[in-house]
Amino acid sequence: MELRDIIDKLKSNGYKVTEQRKAILQVLSSNPNNLISVENLFIKSKEIYNKTNMSTIYRNLEILERLNLVYKLITEDSIALYKLVCSNEHHHHIICKECGKTEIIEFCPINTLNKLAKDKNFNLTSHKLELYGYCVDCQASKDD
Ligand SMILES: [Zn+2]
Ligand SMILES: [Zn+2]
Ligand SMILES: [Zn+2]
Repeated sequence: MELRDIIDKLKSNGYKVTEQRKAILQVLSSNPNNLISVENLFIKSKEIYNKTNMSTIYRNLEILERLNLVYKLITEDSIALYKLVCSNEHHHHIICKECGKTEIIEFCPINTLNKLAKDKNFNLTSHKLELYGYCVDCQASKDD
């Protein structure tokens, strides 16, 4: 999603776009395809606006989550990673469990699954599918 669209949505929901909030959004939108940890988001937001504090980061992520503007992933190590939601057409993700690098998969396997669901007398209305693994960089660091 474009930074402008996000700001519009925040405003139309009654949220002011403060310097802190803008810094956080800038960081998120500068890296739209990679998930980022709260800690890294804090460090990078602070570089843009140095009065940013951790509780503001958490509060803003909560707001963005409530408005469906961010996607949240909890890793196997229970670390929360975030990225802005995508605005392009229906697609899926393959996500690195180590660093949060995300690739887009254009293929959607839903037609096959839809048929299986019909056999169970279900009418599918929506689905979420993400694939997890290790990116090439993280595979290399695991070999060390
Ligand atoms: Zn996406
Ligand atoms: Zn990785
Ligand atoms: Zn799909």
